[in-house]
Amino acid sequence: MDSHAQPSVVIVGGGIAGLSVAKCLSDNGLSCTLIERENQLGGHVRSWACMATDRCLRCFCCTVEDLIDVVESSERVSVLTGCELESLERPGTNSFRVQVRNATNGDRQPVEAAAVVIAAGFTPYDPSEKVFWGYGVHRGVVTLQELDTLVRRDDLAGFVGESDEPLKMAFFQCVGSRDRSIGADYCSQYCCKAALRMALRLRKDKPDWEITIFYIDLQVAGKFAGSLLSLAEEKQIRLIQGVPGEIVPREDGTLEILREHKGVNVREIYDKIVLSVGQHPLPDVSRLSSLAGLETDRFGFLTAAGTQDPCRTRVDRVYVAGTVGGPKDIEQTVEHAGRTAAAVLADLNGSERTQQ
Ligand code: SF4
Ligand code: SF4
Repeated sequence: MDSHAQPSVVIVGGGIAGLSVAKCLSDNGLSCTLIERENQLGGHVRSWACMATDRCLRCFCCTVEDLIDVVESSERVSVLTGCELESLERPGTNSFRVQVRNATNGDRQPVEAAAVVIAAGFTPYDPSEKVFWGYGVHRGVVTLQELDTLVRRDDLAGFVGESDEPLKMAFFQCVGSRDRSIGADYCSQYCCKAALRMALRLRKDKPDWEITIFYIDLQVAGKFAGSLLSLAEEKQIRLIQGVPGEIVPREDGTLEILREHKGVNVREIYDKIVLSVGQHPLPDVSRLSSLAGLETDRFGFLTAAGTQDPCRTRVDRVYVAGTVGGPKDIEQTVEHAGRTAAAVLADLNGSERTQQ
């Protein structure tokens, strides 16, 4: 079938959600325009490392490389990187006129579409907002995403040094999540599994390191995630309930933490601390929501039509996919994007709305 005869879909965001939607729609004969603000596709996941130890730990990071290959080689997908959504008009009930702006040279390009999918992703919480994390102040404190990128670049020594001495590393969970004081009293869904995988990945190369994860609750739901806990116990990762509230630097460069244990304050010394920061809404989510006529929830994520229909929105033929609509891990993001693509296909094919 001639793809030009098919309706076209604009997808805003070239991370794993937008890529998944583009693949699914193009596989089903629709043409798509994928708009990505950065100069390359892949979003956050592109800079995260494979977490395989002696086995695949099902982190799903490698799916993004495959998706990029498929989407970039598809004749049905037009990829516009370094570009952002500038305006969204609706000249007819079933059509959109989208203005895309090149962020470098300011060039504008109009795109006609029959549907719009917002898949713009999330922003990681910036822990420098709370001074007691010591982020940006103490050299031994990094975010989990930064550590992931270092592992991917095979540059862990850039953070921990070249010494062969065993090192003590602690992960602090729920940094910027489940925190009412910053309006983020929700679970970010992915950081417990990500920290467990990272701890196991480090254990593979650094068997003599002492690795501790301080948590509130360990959220490890998911098809493949349950085994992470038993693997962590098997590999002697310390799991301690209760997240310390302060990091104090010492003269020798180590970091002292204070935690409560059976009603008594206990001090422990660590060489490095990893902050498992949560997912927050994009800084410009209100611009996106007002361009598309959407609402945001009390945390700032775009609101879908309802829990029974988490991909459509209250605006006909405007959809959300992935973490722009709320925190998700990679597996959940791909699954959500698949449901979004199915909803687009059902609506554009004139089908009855699928019962979710
Ligand atoms: S799913 Fe993750 S751990 Fe498994 S091979 Fe892919 S990147 Fe590596
Ligand atoms: S996934 Fe874990 S670390 Fe992340 S917010 Fe939820 S409970 Fe906290």
